[in-house]
Amino acid sequence: MSAPDNKAVSDTLGSTQGTGQKVPLSSNSIARILNLLDDLKSSAAGMVLYQYVERMLLEMDQEHGERDKVLRFWLRSLMDVYAKHLDPGSSMHVHVKLLQKQLQMPHTSHELQELQRHMDLYAMHIARMELIDEAVLRRALEPIFSYYSDDICPETTENEKSSQKESENSASGDETQRELIQSLIEELLPHNDQDTEQKLASKYRQYLNSQHREAEKVQAKLMQHIQDTIDENKQFGDMLENVKLGLVEAEEIDDINLLRQSLMEDVEKLGGAYRGLLGKLDDAKSYLKMIETDSQNLSEELARVRLLSMTDELTDLPNRRALMRRLEDEMSRSQRYGFQLGLALLDLDSFKDINDEHGHAVGDAVLTCYAEQILSTFRHHDMVARYGGEEFAVILPNTDLKGALSALHKVQREAKSTICHYGEVEVPAPTFSAGVAMLHESDDVESLMKRADDAMYEAKRLGRNQIVLDRQDQLRAHDAGSTSISDTN
Ligand code: GH3
Ligand code: MG
Ligand code: MG
Repeated sequence: MSAPDNKAVSDTLGSTQGTGQKVPLSSNSIARILNLLDDLKSSAAGMVLYQYVERMLLEMDQEHGERDKVLRFWLRSLMDVYAKHLDPGSSMHVHVKLLQKQLQMPHTSHELQELQRHMDLYAMHIARMELIDEAVLRRALEPIFSYYSDDICPETTENEKSSQKESENSASGDETQRELIQSLIEELLPHNDQDTEQKLASKYRQYLNSQHREAEKVQAKLMQHIQDTIDENKQFGDMLENVKLGLVEAEEIDDINLLRQSLMEDVEKLGGAYRGLLGKLDDAKSYLKMIETDSQNLSEELARVRLLSMTDELTDLPNRRALMRRLEDEMSRSQRYGFQLGLALLDLDSFKDINDEHGHAVGDAVLTCYAEQILSTFRHHDMVARYGGEEFAVILPNTDLKGALSALHKVQREAKSTICHYGEVEVPAPTFSAGVAMLHESDDVESLMKRADDAMYEAKRLGRNQIVLDRQDQLRAHDAGSTSISDTN
């Protein structure tokens, strides 16, 4: 490991601030405090006090400056590592490079907030990376730990420090640093904290959405600009038409000369405008291309994040991906401990009619209303997820057949008595058709889903607004002397 090199760190960070000066110009507040104490200097005792305070403040300021430099160095190193994992020229790469440039100056609290926003974004991106290049990360971090090596063992005496530096490869020093680097790498490597993942994904999504909206606005402005230019050009066309008519009708040579003169002027103007137009169109073309690429990148990122995210954006319910994960967990728990487990698939009836009659926005509001007011009737340890457009899935852990059916009937009653609102519009909540399947020992996720799905289609076939039990479960219930086969409200 290389020897600590504070100068190298300072050089990387830019000029040192105020070191060696009596009152660093950058530290306005120190100057102000000292001004307040100016009167002290008139007495000998006061002077001693003044100098003492001055020294103390300067030391504090220097220490603060050092810390600030190290932090900026640290951030830039981490951002370097991050940037090395991005495609040069990609929008994220450009982003990181720009942010690195801003790290030169001392920060206001507003700048720090902005920085935090970006750091969250990068952290999210880093967490998504399949593989972080450990060697690159190590190379970036080692100088930092060298710089910090004085702080690692604060109780070390000066003599010990120099002997430590002489034997840089000493086992214990290397060991401490290795452990520190290792723990940092551990923190940076992708992990499975779903909560954090979800929070970051949603932040990232918000950010990308706002970028997308910006791009759309710029695009609309540009189209307007092009339209204006086309209109302008059309006016010139009309003008030429007039001159042509004038020439046809001209009888006197003076008239022709006059028209010739005006034609030459107009053609000159037209030539200028034409060149201007070409330039504008050229600019517009490359600008549009840039926006198009950027929007495309953003859309792709957005789609990827949506896919990775676990929450449905419209209803805030867990999405299909979250459902599948949880279903696997619950199934293996049930199979291990012998608990019963039910799965229900619900498809809203004739939902298309709502969209057709009231519009898509009202349809969206009805879906949200269903999630918030109707499906919330399930117990809180049941998992309700948005499975598809107007389809929901419910995992009912630790629930027997009777319990599952009665839960669904309760929800069916709730739907019947619910009116959904969207502004002034009131829509009675639609009914649903549901298929229910109970977990069998031989089931895997696919077979359980398929049985519930088949039962749901049977409910549709039977005329909708039905809760239908899977065929195999019907037989089992029948054998066990139970009655319920299919249920209509
Ligand atoms: P069925 O009783 O056979 O299920 O009839 P349906 O109209 O509900 O079924 P269909 O599959 O014909 O149509 C489903 C409709 O749900 C069409 C689709 O536009 C609408 N839909 C799906 N997702 C959304 C959404 O997020 N918002 C809105 N507003 N509508 C959606
Ligand atoms: Mg459907
Ligand atoms: Mg439907």
